[in-house]
Amino acid sequence: MKVVVTAGPTREAIDPVRFISNYSTGEMGYRIAEEAQRRGNEVVLISGPTSLKRPKGLKLIEVESALQMYAAVKGEARDADCVIASAAVSDYRPVRYSPNKIRSKRARLALSLKQNPDILAQLGKRKAHRVLVGFALESGSGVVRRARRKLKEKNLDIIVANRVSKRRGPEAGYDAPFGRGPTDVFVIDKKGGVAQFEKIYKEELAGILLDRITEMMQ
Ligand code: C5P
Repeated sequence: MKVVVTAGPTREAIDPVRFISNYSTGEMGYRIAEEAQRRGNEVVLISGPTSLKRPKGLKLIEVESALQMYAAVKGEARDADCVIASAAVSDYRPVRYSPNKIRSKRARLALSLKQNPDILAQLGKRKAHRVLVGFALESGSGVVRRARRKLKEKNLDIIVANRVSKRRGPEAGYDAPFGRGPTDVFVIDKKGGVAQFEKIYKEELAGILLDRITEMMQ
């Protein structure tokens, strides 16, 4: 099958030297792409900026902004059997890009933002015979409930949900669920099944997801 994977953060430029983004490392998507390729699939990895090693033997499309990622996904998803959206797409971008560096003289600066397209939701709207997999990173309680709602709203087959650790922050550090460490996740399918995995490494989770996807394709 042809598998399209999105990974990493997007960057939304404010001016030539600044952007807004998020803490995604790309780890999840890269591990999925590698595992899908190892299993003999045709893999296209559409990645925002990361510091990960470029996987060999698959098509890597590097993008920066959400709009660029959207354009790349639209092109590649057309004949894909499965799309796995693990990218942490920036939900908003600056309304106006300043071609000149914004001066830092003012004590306060208001940045006006507008919503980016929801790439995965758009794919879900025109769904052919594909398997669509999304991720949901939530904070607070009701992780499974909110992920289920997203699965429905975006017309997905599987959603992987996890929670941002309460301790995360400037004081406690910025590790799990970001990066290479193990993470606690729920894998939820459209029939309502929920499987919980604790302290699972992303390589292993990639294998579990691809097993599920292969089952669904049969
Ligand atoms: O709604 P939320 O951002 O939590 O949804 C997460 C899922 O939707 C992820 O799979 C993410 O890759 C995808 N997404 C997207 N485009 C956006 C926002 C999220 O494809 N603009």
